[in-house]
Amino acid sequence: MSRANGNLLVVGSVAFDDLEFQNLYPVHNVLGGAATHFAIAASPFVDRTRLVGVVGDDFQQHDRQILNRHRVDLLGLEQRPGNTFRWGGTYHEDMNHRDTRYTHLGVFENFQPQLPQGWEQTPFVFLANIHPRLQHDVLDQMQHVQFVAMDTMNLWINTQRNVLARLLERVNGIIISDQEAALLTGERLILKMGRAVQQLGPKTVVIKRGEHGAFLFHGPELFYVPAHPLKEVIDPTGAGDSFAGGFMGMLACHGEVTMDTLRRAMIAGSVMASFCVQNYGVFGTTGKSLDHVEERYKTFVQLTRCPEFVPLT
Ligand code: AMP
Repeated sequence: MSRANGNLLVVGSVAFDDLEFQNLYPVHNVLGGAATHFAIAASPFVDRTRLVGVVGDDFQQHDRQILNRHRVDLLGLEQRPGNTFRWGGTYHEDMNHRDTRYTHLGVFENFQPQLPQGWEQTPFVFLANIHPRLQHDVLDQMQHVQFVAMDTMNLWINTQRNVLARLLERVNGIIISDQEAALLTGERLILKMGRAVQQLGPKTVVIKRGEHGAFLFHGPELFYVPAHPLKEVIDPTGAGDSFAGGFMGMLACHGEVTMDTLRRAMIAGSVMASFCVQNYGVFGTTGKSLDHVEERYKTFVQLTRCPEFVPLT
């Protein structure tokens, strides 16, 4: 497998996170944001990920260097006077639940995504969780996209239904949590939920269930990948975006969207999410090579290998 070059683009938040835990030391000012987690998690699969976002003048050279080291193209990262988006979260003891303590938009408040010249034709695009109007703005600037997937959150499902409904009709795929899918569709059972999201527009739907894995709906097909079993979870921040980064990175690497590449993408997503939660911030996914991915990928193959049914006499 060879890495794809310049064919993946992400738009979304680049942030500083202040994280608190029940049984671990808090960490403040750690590099985060949906686009950051995504781009770093995609890096084993692609030679370059184009990032569109905005940061303030508090964004330091060493933050840039982390992204540069992971071959993230920062031509689309605007720097403006003011503060970088800041998110404060507190995790509960079981780590599956968290509360948002604050969201300080900073320069993100007036963010108007602007694609650098030549980026309009990027074939694989991920619209990370931002206001759906901005996700539309990015799509308006794109031409000849091969596969565009999106994320969203409860806030936009509750307050921007119409804008979101129009967006869902414009994208090929969506990667969301089961809670978001339930809110979007009113369904409780995973099968009904997935099919109901497809009815809203995207042919390809990924529903994530945290430590219980993720389901893929693609046309009439269905696929499931478990989460990698781990002895310890340090920090789940960005696991969803890391899943999306691994997923889209693998698709971009193959350059085509078939049931076979989507299955591989699901496993790559689960692999990158499992790396993510093993360290603070982006430090679970930084420095990961294709060899690291391959090693963990193989454990998924082992974990899920089912013998053929043998008729019992
Ligand atoms: P995840 O754990 O995958 O939901 O991603 C968490 C990341 O998303 C953190 O690094 C935050 O900086 C970022 N984030 C949190 N809230 C928002 C928001 N409202 N809009 C955009 N990004 C956000």
